[in-house]
Amino acid sequence: MLQAILTIVTLGGTALCARYFFKIQYVKQAELQMQTVVSVLSRQAWQVPDGARSRWCAARAQETHYRIAWIAPSGAMICDSEGPASFLRNSEVEESLLNAARSGDFPIVRTRDAIYTAAAVPLEGSEKSYLIGTASLDSVRETLHGFDVGLFVVLIFAGIGLCAFSVISSRRLVVPLGQLILKARESANSEGTGMEGPLGLDGADVGEWVELESALNRIQSDLRQKTETLSREREQLSTLMGAISDAILAIDGSEKPLFFNSRFALLFFDQEQRERQPHLGEIFRAPEVLQAFRKALSEGGSQNANVPLYIRSETAPHYFSLSVAPLRRDLGPVYGAVGVFHDVTELKRAENIRIDFVANVSHELRTPLTSIKGYTDTLREDVEKNRFDSAKAFLDVISRNVDRLMSLIGDLLDLSSLESSEANGKLSRSLVDTEELTSRVVAQLEGRWSQKKHQVEAHYGAAKVFADSARLEQVIVNLLENAIKYIPDGGKITITWEAAKDSVLLRIRDNGPGIPAEYHSRLFERFYRVDKGRSRDMGGTGLGLAIVKHIMQRHGGSVSVNSEPGQGTEFVCVFPSQ
Ligand code: ADP
Repeated sequence: MLQAILTIVTLGGTALCARYFFKIQYVKQAELQMQTVVSVLSRQAWQVPDGARSRWCAARAQETHYRIAWIAPSGAMICDSEGPASFLRNSEVEESLLNAARSGDFPIVRTRDAIYTAAAVPLEGSEKSYLIGTASLDSVRETLHGFDVGLFVVLIFAGIGLCAFSVISSRRLVVPLGQLILKARESANSEGTGMEGPLGLDGADVGEWVELESALNRIQSDLRQKTETLSREREQLSTLMGAISDAILAIDGSEKPLFFNSRFALLFFDQEQRERQPHLGEIFRAPEVLQAFRKALSEGGSQNANVPLYIRSETAPHYFSLSVAPLRRDLGPVYGAVGVFHDVTELKRAENIRIDFVANVSHELRTPLTSIKGYTDTLREDVEKNRFDSAKAFLDVISRNVDRLMSLIGDLLDLSSLESSEANGKLSRSLVDTEELTSRVVAQLEGRWSQKKHQVEAHYGAAKVFADSARLEQVIVNLLENAIKYIPDGGKITITWEAAKDSVLLRIRDNGPGIPAEYHSRLFERFYRVDKGRSRDMGGTGLGLAIVKHIMQRHGGSVSVNSEPGQGTEFVCVFPSQ
């Protein structure tokens, strides 16, 4: 519609302009023609004899369709094709015409109704008369009217034709295009809702648009496939990155993060940083990390580093093995670097424990072995010299050290069997009668506690405990032996069984010297002793509590200590009911 209105307005405008220029041109042409005619007549006029002049004027007017008037030098009318009436009836025009003609010009004057021109006609002597031609503009108006009618008809037909053309072309061009755009928009909006399908043009008048439609359909399905593949791959990648236990960070050339996995954010970002995504230099201060990334960016090679890093608010550093590789598209320039932070703290700790353990075992073995070696050498010398006075005492020392070695090796084997069965199998647990087992252990150790004049009492708030009987016996023996050993003579030891909501508690309490709080956390480590010399003198291996801890862990339970110096010591073992 808009197109049709525009076309009509343009056509109308063009027609008006054409009409205007046509009119100007037409009048100019008429003026020129009249000037030429009057000029020619002015050159013939002087030959016309006096008596023939009126006829001559009438004849020339008839020929040319102009009004021809001839004015004598005196201003009197020589002849006028329209009779002897006053010449122009417009004195202003007459005056300006004659003035111009007198001064040798070839004037042309136009009024609303007519065009006038004048030319000098030489007479005898130097006198000049003037021939004046007048043409009515009625003929111009008639011609213009005809032109207008013709133009109007042409415009009407052109308008109708153009409207019809624009309707047809809009049906052929705009309608299918509109349909395609509409369908493409609907399809884009329904992306992922399962409503996607080919665009499909309606109507028969779609012509060559069908090709565009099928091309668009191909692009659409291609695009959909690529989007699906891309989003599937992105999901897979983010799942993969999320599942990786190592922290991963990729940066661009300006050291801004390109991506990082959830592990990295968890270890190295606080909430504010996670949103802001700061530069590498703000995340890490450690020069090893900065250097590894920067070298990978500048040199394009892989870099490795071992670096201690503080994570979040933790006070002790974590040890990371860092591998950084450059990022480049095909074989193009390096546009970034990706670093994998592998936490090796546990490995390092295990390595340290192993080193400590070997050192401790060697030390624990060497002490009694040195003593045995020393006493056997002395004993041999004494025997060679037939001196037997100290032999018994020496043999006692040797025997004590052998006992110590045997109990040390026994404890080590126990620990190792607990650790290996931790990985390989389960305990044989059953409901054990607490009273029966406890009284048996107490009776077994009676020689030791009665020798030190201790008092041992037991309370049974729980009749049964779900445990491995042999291992439970070992727990009670270790804890009771410690109490017997470390409390001064005449002490009191209380064994209490308690039934709790989902567990059974075993408390072994003494009124001995107690253990300062700073040692509590390390008490269950292998070979850890509060008072090293005293413990060894008392035959302790430093492994008793470590064995208790392992046994309790194997039961899915726990062991803890409540103690203060001078307030005695209480060990609490928790056995889960199931
Ligand atoms: P040990 O063979 O030296 O007794 P344990 O592992 O059984 O080794 O005990 C570790 C340390 O805990 C002991 O060396 C001792 O210093 C301290 N300890 C254990 N039980 C008691 C207790 N009942 N009273 C005071 N100290 C204790």
